Amino acid sequence: MKLFVFYHDDVDTGTRRIVPRNYLQSCVIELEKVCDREFVIEYLSSVPGMTDIDYKGGEEIVLKDWIRRVRAFAGQRGLSLDRTHRYLLVTGDKLSESILGVTYAGHYAVIASLYSYQVIAHELGHSFGATHEDAELQYNAFGLVCETYVFPDRQVSRANCYQYSLKNRQNIAAFLGAVD
Ligand SMILES: [Zn+2]
Repeated sequence: MKLFVFYHDDVDTGTRRIVPRNYLQSCVIELEKVCDREFVIEYLSSVPGMTDIDYKGGEEIVLKDWIRRVRAFAGQRGLSLDRTHRYLLVTGDKLSESILGVTYAGHYAVIASLYSYQVIAHELGHSFGATHEDAELQYNAFGLVCETYVFPDRQVSRANCYQYSLKNRQNIAAFLGAVD
């Protein structure tokens, strides 16, 4: 598994330092466990044509634009676009008032903001076949109601579970099970 993390130019250096630990680690550990393979993560910054993309133009248009750029990037470098490769653009801000990130189900191109801790895990989950329908509310270790990563209706009054639901873990395993 290979994950390319592109930091948008608007993500400052201090924030880049905490992204691996605070936004990525717990979901990557879980994904590795679920699919029983290791993730190799490559972080990229200041890549002209990639990290300077205007992501405020409406999520559908922006995602299509990102896909086009990812295809060019992968093509130039002979990189695969199969389901073991993900190209994640990390943005400092939301895409719009209500849109925190975007991808297509099972797609290699993903955009996620750092607006809250679970956005990257949420969108990566979609990109590996996780669905809103199979997300759920749970109780965390402190007895508080929490949202699993792909829960659609984020409410600040609820905690993050920092994990995928069992059903979504099965969805992800099934999605990646088709790969050698
Ligand atoms: Zn979603």
